[in-house]
Amino acid sequence: MARKTAPPPPAKCPTCKGSGEVSRAVRVGRQRRSVGQQTGLCLACLGSGEAAE
Ligand SMILES: [Zn+2]
Repeated sequence: MARKTAPPPPAKCPTCKGSGEVSRAVRVGRQRRSVGQQTGLCLACLGSGEAAE
């Protein structure tokens, strides 16, 4: 079963744009002070960087 055409590349996750990571604001305390940004796992694709079907 030889294929002559390459399979299409997986669609990139629109949330993390294929990186598998997203930056999010880090907040602490009841006043929700933003203390900076942190990179976290993209929950849309679970870090795979590919768009879920
Ligand atoms: Zn993602």
